[in-house]
Amino acid sequence: MNEARQGIQGIGMTSARTRDRLVQRLVEQGIRSPAVLERIRNVPRHLFVDEALASRAYEDTALPIGLGQTISQPYIVAKMTEALLENFHGETVLEIGTGCGYQTMVLSPLVKKIYSVERLPELLRKTRQRLRDLDIYNVQFRPGDGWEGWPKYGPYDGIIVTAAAPEIPEKLLQQLAPGGRLIIPVGPTGKQELLLVTNMQDHFTQSSLGAVCFVPLVQG
Ligand code: SAH
Repeated sequence: MNEARQGIQGIGMTSARTRDRLVQRLVEQGIRSPAVLERIRNVPRHLFVDEALASRAYEDTALPIGLGQTISQPYIVAKMTEALLENFHGETVLEIGTGCGYQTMVLSPLVKKIYSVERLPELLRKTRQRLRDLDIYNVQFRPGDGWEGWPKYGPYDGIIVTAAAPEIPEKLLQQLAPGGRLIIPVGPTGKQELLLVTNMQDHFTQSSLGAVCFVPLVQG
């Protein structure tokens, strides 16, 4: 049995109540999608953080994962996933900022295929292995610069960016399919806003989903 599987079994009974509490909290904060709440309940978040932090894995908070990066707060992951999938009729999603892969795993069974780009190869190597251990197979990974998107498999029905950009990267707009939805935090540290951008074919519409706090989408 691999380490990830042992972890899933080990946590079993002890954390069911903790996870229920987390889900309850997200419901109180306005998360409605049963599918998304089910994912938050069942994805073993403790396997995405250092062992020393595992006891805090079901708190609704971002946590450090090394290399100056963080695992996103469950509420934000839930909110972004819900916003991406509302009126979603497509199949493919481009994710920018794979990180530890928590957002990737929450989303994975809810869409047909995810293409995920991460600029830190070392982080990506671990994440790729982790998701394989957790039986996630519909994700294709690539080390690279998310500002470029991933033209090869585009356009995408949805794009989700989990690092904050000073402005919406032009190339991501170009890779968004007609009717497609882009969820992206935009703005400088301390003043970021989560945006939903929709491709209406002849123009894009934009709305704000509220204030957020992400690590920066590094340029180049
Ligand atoms: N999605 C993760 C959180 C990611 S944190 C979760 O579920 O917890 C943001 C990630 O974006 C980091 O791993 C960082 O290395 C990556 N990143 C930053 N700039 C990037 C860029 N230009 N292209 C691709 N990835 C980038």
